[in-house]
Amino acid sequence: MRRRSTECDAVAGALPAYVAGEADLDVRSEHHVARCLRCQADVARYRRMLRTLHALRDDSEEPPPSVLSGILTSLDGGAPRRRAWVPEPWVALGLAMAAGAIGATGVVVWSTRRRQIS
Ligand SMILES: [Zn+2]
Repeated sequence: MRRRSTECDAVAGALPAYVAGEADLDVRSEHHVARCLRCQADVARYRRMLRTLHALRDDSEEPPPSVLSGILTSLDGGAPRRRAWVPEPWVALGLAMAAGAIGATGVVVWSTRRRQIS
């Protein structure tokens, strides 16, 4: 699976409002979506979600349009896309070993000083 380009990331935040009909894309974003299969897939996914939400909607009470794009954005992980930092396994192992080494050093220093005091 190819990674998203920075252009995809730039467009991603505007897609929920665009699909919901709340905002237009700027010309550059429109051109990008027209030639980017990944962003077109995102648009299709948003449209499916929108149809599903409309099907579930209670007709007696309609939420303001901004609520819908907020839901779509949060379902997609938020925009601009923020990724939680997840350390690679070797980084986590290194951090754990460093923490262990620091802890062991602390115990040695503490016990050495205790012996000197008493
Ligand atoms: Zn794209």
